[in-house]
Amino acid sequence: MSEQHTALPQSRHLATDLPGPKARALQQRHSAAVAAGVSALMPTYAVRSDRGIIEDVDGNRLIDLGSGIAVTTVGASAPAVVSAVADQAAQFTHSCFMVTPYEGYIAVAEKLSELTPVPGQSRSALFNSGAEAVENAVKIARAYTGKQAVAAFDHAYHGRTTLTMTLTAKSMPYKHSFGPFAPEIYRVSGSYPYRDGLTGDQAAERAIDQLEKQIGAGSLAAVIIEPIQGEGGFIVPAEGFLTRVSQWCRENDVLFIADEIQTGFARTGAWFACAEEGVEPDLITTAKGIAGGMPLSAVTGRADVMDAAHSGGLGGTYGGNPVACAAALGAIGTMEELDLLSRAREIEALVTEHLRAAQANDARIGDIRGRGAMLAVELVDPETAAPEAALAGAVAAAARAVGVVTLTCGTYGNVIRLLPPLTIDDELLREGLTVITEALAAR
Ligand SMILES: *Cc1c(COP(=O)(O)O)cnc(C)c1O
Repeated sequence: MSEQHTALPQSRHLATDLPGPKARALQQRHSAAVAAGVSALMPTYAVRSDRGIIEDVDGNRLIDLGSGIAVTTVGASAPAVVSAVADQAAQFTHSCFMVTPYEGYIAVAEKLSELTPVPGQSRSALFNSGAEAVENAVKIARAYTGKQAVAAFDHAYHGRTTLTMTLTAKSMPYKHSFGPFAPEIYRVSGSYPYRDGLTGDQAAERAIDQLEKQIGAGSLAAVIIEPIQGEGGFIVPAEGFLTRVSQWCRENDVLFIADEIQTGFARTGAWFACAEEGVEPDLITTAKGIAGGMPLSAVTGRADVMDAAHSGGLGGTYGGNPVACAAALGAIGTMEELDLLSRAREIEALVTEHLRAAQANDARIGDIRGRGAMLAVELVDPETAAPEAALAGAVAAAARAVGVVTLTCGTYGNVIRLLPPLTIDDELLREGLTVITEALAAR
C-alpha cells in the first residue's frame, strides 16, 4: 500500500450536517444524471472506508452497520484485498476465463470446495453478481434433473433479474410493474417462528404438503432457500425445518439449493449457515462477502450435478474476473487469519445483550433474531404484534441522520437489521447500537 495512505480513525465524527455542502452538490448531479429507480439510503457520498467507518465527501465519519449490504465483511479496504487487487490489476485485468484461463479462478474454486458443506466432491462456476449465480444454479438444476419447476419460499429474496425477481417474494419495490415473470416458479410457505408459531417439523410438513400437492416432485427440479432469510426480515427458520425439507428433497430427486449469498463467508459465525444445522446442499450460491467488495459470485455443487451442464453452457464475459478472484483469496485469507468466524459470534453476544436490555423496557421490540453478525429487531405494536414499518423507517432514518448507516428489511418493512463489518471495534459497534436504541426510545 502507498505511503500516503493514513489509517481512517475509527470514530464517528460529524463535521457538517448530513448532507453537507459537497454532498448536497452531488445530490443535484445525482438526480440529474442517475435513473430515479436507483435510489440511495444515505444522504451523503463515500470517499473512503475502512473497518467500521465510512468517510464522506464533507469529512464526516459514519459508523457502518450495513457493510454495503453484507459485503465488506473484512472491511472495505482490508490490506490483503487492496494489495491483491493492485498486484493482479498490474499483471492483467481480464483475459476471459473461457478464452485464456488463469490460476486465480481455479484457486477460488478450490477454496470453495474446501469451505462449502456440499457432500462429496464439488465443483464451482464463477459469475459476477448474486442474481447471476442464482440464475445459473437454476439452469444447472434443470439440466441435471431434466425437470423444470423451481420452488421458493414466502419472504424469499433471490435477486432482481427476471428469473430471480420471480423467485423473490416481495412485490414492492422488487417486482412491481416489472412483469411478466419467469415461468415454472412456485412459492410455498416457509418457517417464521415469531409469526407462525410452528415448530420446524410442523412448518416443514406444511411446505412439503404444498410441494407435493401443488407442484409434484416429478415436475420439481429444485427447491431454493436462504438458510436465514435476508431481505425478507432476517428470519431464522425453526430448528429442524431446513433438515426436514432437505431430506424430503433427497428422497424425491429434487435438488436442494442453499442461497447463502447473504449468510455466507463468516457472517453468521460459520463459513456457511446451513452447515450449522448439518444440512448438505446439492448446490450453494455465494456472492456478497466472498471478495471484500469486488463483484464476484459462485455456484458450488456436487460434481455430478455441476457437470450436467454441457461444455460451453455456463460462463460469461467477466465471470470470475482475475481481479475479483485475487480479492476473494485476500478476503477469505483475512477471515482465516483474523478468525472472523469467532469474531461474528462475539458480535452476536455484544449486540444481543444490548438489544435484550432495550427490549426489557420496550415492548415494541417484538423479536430479536439472527445469528453471528446478521442480527435484527422486529418492531411491532405491543398489543397486536402488527408490523410497525413507519417506526422502523423513522428510527433508521434518525440513526442515519447522525452518522450511523442503518438498514431496514422485511416483507412488512418493520425490521431493523445489523450487518456490521466483522472488523469493527466493539466501542464503535456499541456507539452505533446506542444511537439506534436511543432513536427508538425517543419515539
Ligand atoms: C443480495 C442477494 C441476492 C442477489 O445478489 P446481487 O449480487 O444483488 O445480485 C440473492 N440472494 C440473496 C439471499 C441475497 O441476499
